[in-house]
Amino acid sequence: MGKGFFNVPVAVNEPVKSYAPGTPEREAVLETYKEMFNSKINVPLYINGKNIETGNTRTMSPPHDHKHSVGTYHLAEKSHIDDAISTALEARKSWSLMPWEQRAAIFLKAAELIAGPYRAKINAATMMAQSKTIHQAEIDAACEFIDFLRFNVQFMTDIYMEQPESTSDAWNRVEYRPLEGFTYAVTPFNFTAIAGNLPACMALMGNVVVWKPSDSQVYSAKVIMDVFEEAGVPPGVINVVFGDPVMITNTVLASPDFSGLHFTGSTFIFKELWKQIGNNIHNYKTYPRIVGETGGKDFVVAHKSANPEHVATAIVRGAFEFQGQKCSAASRAYIPTSLWSDVKSKVIKDVKSFKMGSPEDMSNFITAVIHEGSFDKLAKYIDQAKADANAEIIVGGNHDKSKGYFIEPTVIVTTDPKYTTMCTELFGPVITIYVYEDDAYADTLKLVDETSEYALTGAIISKDRYAVTQATEALQNAAGNFYINDKPTGAVVGQQPFGGARASGTNDKAGSAQNLLRWVSPRMIKETFVTPTDYRYPFLGE
Ligand code: NAD
Repeated sequence: MGKGFFNVPVAVNEPVKSYAPGTPEREAVLETYKEMFNSKINVPLYINGKNIETGNTRTMSPPHDHKHSVGTYHLAEKSHIDDAISTALEARKSWSLMPWEQRAAIFLKAAELIAGPYRAKINAATMMAQSKTIHQAEIDAACEFIDFLRFNVQFMTDIYMEQPESTSDAWNRVEYRPLEGFTYAVTPFNFTAIAGNLPACMALMGNVVVWKPSDSQVYSAKVIMDVFEEAGVPPGVINVVFGDPVMITNTVLASPDFSGLHFTGSTFIFKELWKQIGNNIHNYKTYPRIVGETGGKDFVVAHKSANPEHVATAIVRGAFEFQGQKCSAASRAYIPTSLWSDVKSKVIKDVKSFKMGSPEDMSNFITAVIHEGSFDKLAKYIDQAKADANAEIIVGGNHDKSKGYFIEPTVIVTTDPKYTTMCTELFGPVITIYVYEDDAYADTLKLVDETSEYALTGAIISKDRYAVTQATEALQNAAGNFYINDKPTGAVVGQQPFGGARASGTNDKAGSAQNLLRWVSPRMIKETFVTPTDYRYPFLGE
C-alpha cells in the first residue's frame, strides 16, 4: 500500500458526438440498435459476480413499440435480496481495504470503456429502453456517465487531500473510511448516467452496494453491469436486483447493517423510504446516510425586457427534449403580456415543426413516454385541460398508445396561476403558461416561489440587470440550479453540480465532492511521537 502520492488524470468533460448523417458514430449506433431490436436478451440478477436466473421473468419492450419484445429479465425473491446483502458484507472485507488508486483505476477504466468500445451499445440500449433520441442518449448514457466516473475520481482525491494541521510532536491524519455495513442504490428510469453513478460513486469511496434499478431501465442497466464487470469491479461489490420494489426495500431496510440510501426518483417514494428508515432506526448499527434527488416543477420566468425568441427557445427546449422526462424540465412558465403574442407564435411554430416517432428514425425530435402508467396520467391531465374553462391548449393535445406511448408535446395556457398543471409534476411533454401583467413582476416572482412544493431548477430571462438581481433574490430558495438567460435543463458534471432543495431532495449535488462526502465516515488519527510519562502539568509545580 501507499508507495507514492499519485496524481489522477485531470478530469475533462467527454465531447458530445454529433451523429450527423454520414458520421461513423451514427452508423455504429444504428447498426447496434437494429441488432438489439431484432434479438432477445435475458437479463439475470447479479449477485456476488454470478448471473442468477430465477425463472420468474418479465418482458422488456421499447416504449415506442410496446408490443415488440427485446427480451426478459429475472425477478428476485426475498432470499436473493438476503444473498445480495450477505455477499456485499463479505466483499466489504476486501474492498474496504483496497488501495484508493486501485478503486480509481477500475472506474477510470469503466469511463474509457464507455467512451470507446461500449459507446454504441450503451447509447443504443438507452434509445431502446428509455426511448431517447440519439442526442439525448449520447448526452446521458455516454457523456454524463463518463463525466461522473472521471470527475468523481478527481473529487475523491480532493477529499482525501483535505487534512488537518499537525505539529512537530503530533501528526494528525484523517482517513475517509467507507460506511460500516452496506449501501442501497435505488435509481430512476430517466437517466442511464444516474443509474450507473449512484452505485458507482458509493463503490468508488470503498462501499459495497445493493442496487435496484427501475423496471423501465433494465436493458441499459445490463450494459452498465457489463461495463463494471469488464472494468474489474470485484464480485459482491455492486449487486443488482430487479423485482418488487416494496419487497426489496423492506428486506434491505430491515437489515441492521444498512448504512446508506442513495435514491433518485419521485418525491413521494423518497419520503416513504425516509419514514421507513426512521421507523427502523433502533435496529441499525449506525445512523444511515440518506441522499435523495427527487421531483421538480421547474420554471421559466420572462421579464418584459427579454427577447421573445430567447424565451420561446428556452420553453421549447426546456420543456420538450426527452418528452419532458427530465427532473429539470421546464413545466411552468410566466410570460409578461407585452411579450406574449411573439412568444406564443414562435412556441406554436416550433412545436408544430417537431417530428414524433421511433428514435431509430433520427429525424424525430420527440419519441414515446416511458410506460403506460405515465401515458395514462398525462392523457388524463391533457383531457381535463380541454374540458376546463380556465385552461386552453394552444398546441398539441393529442395522444395515441396503439403502437407506442406517444403524447403530443402540449402547451396549456391558464388564467389561474395555481391551476393544477402549474403545481403538479406531470413528468411528460406538457408545459403550462401563465401570462402576467408587465407591472406585476414582483408579485409574479412571489407567485413562482410559492406555487410549488419543489425547488429543483428555474430560469429568469431578462435583459434588465435589475430584474435579474430581483429574481435572483426573490427566488433564492425556489431552485437548487438557477439559470440566467438560459433554459433550466442541461446541467454538466463538473460545471453545474445538480440538485434541489425543499421537496426536490437533500441537495447533495450529484457530480460533486459534496455528494461523495456522504459516503465516507472520517476517522481522525492523532499520533504522538514522544509520549508523556508523568501526569503532572507544570502549573502543579511547587
Ligand atoms: P419512481 O419514483 O417511480 O422510481 C424510482 C425508483 O424507485 C425505481 O427504481 C422504482 O422501482 C423505485 N420504487 C418505486 N416504488 C418504490 C417503493 N415503494 N419502494 C422502494 N422503491 C420504489 O421514479 P421514476 O419514474 O423512475 O423517475 C422519475 C422521477 O424521478 C421524477 O419524479 C423525477 O423528477 C425524479 N428525478 C429526479 C432527479 C433529480 O436529480 N432530482 C433526477 C432524475 C429523476
